[in-house]
Amino acid sequence: MSEALLQVKDLKVAYGGIHAVKGIDLEINQGELVALIGANGAGKTTTLKTLVGMIKPAGGEIRFDGQPTARLAPYHYVSRGLVLVPEGRGVFPRLSVAENLLMGAHVRNDKADIAHDMERVYHLFPRLKERQAQLAGTLSGGEQQMLAIGRAIMSRPKLLLLDEPSMGLAPIIVQKIFEIIRMIAAEGVTMLLVEQNAKLALETANRGYVMESGRITLADSAASLLANEAIQKAYLGE
Ligand code: ATP
Repeated sequence: MSEALLQVKDLKVAYGGIHAVKGIDLEINQGELVALIGANGAGKTTTLKTLVGMIKPAGGEIRFDGQPTARLAPYHYVSRGLVLVPEGRGVFPRLSVAENLLMGAHVRNDKADIAHDMERVYHLFPRLKERQAQLAGTLSGGEQQMLAIGRAIMSRPKLLLLDEPSMGLAPIIVQKIFEIIRMIAAEGVTMLLVEQNAKLALETANRGYVMESGRITLADSAASLLANEAIQKAYLGE
């Protein structure tokens, strides 16, 4: 069998004396949509930030696309195809929608393909097309989330990490964002999805990991996690 796209072994992350991630194993195969769920402070965001090199791990190994990431400089992650859509979106507020999307393609220089991908993003998000000249800082929360995902797609990710895409959005907008996530997955983009909305995340994903206090306590198919009584009680509000 070929190696998984992402392989994480015994990953440990600490902030000073605080051990936020206490030795976790994760694996994501090409084409999978994997959910990472868990309570506030479980270490999910810390895990994602470490995967893209924003935080240096205290121990363990991360292999992406067949190579260890330990020696990669932070700006190399995007060009290697490992891209994070951060919590809070992080769009450039004083740039237009179109300029934000082009920033996502800054690691590429294939002009014709970039134009093609802009059209693809505008096809996924007609709202962004309508607003391509508008300053990103004046978009609604949902539109900014669409822009953040669109910008990530512009870098042609091999693995897209999404941190809480539903955060702060009205239910109808959340449904829309998840529809898009499903469409992107159907196009073959591999994704790791961190979500407070565990039900929606597991209904969308193929597999899931449950994180508690810095450890992975369960790993299973999304369907099995949805059917698991302990998970239903703790995370699904049932
Ligand atoms: P949430 O769903 O609330 O975002 P999370 O699962 O993403 O939670 P993290 O943000 O990764 O959790 O936080 C894990 C632990 O690390 C928490 O105890 C948090 O207080 C701590 N932590 C996070 N960032 C820092 C930091 N910069 N300095 C010190 N401690 C931090």
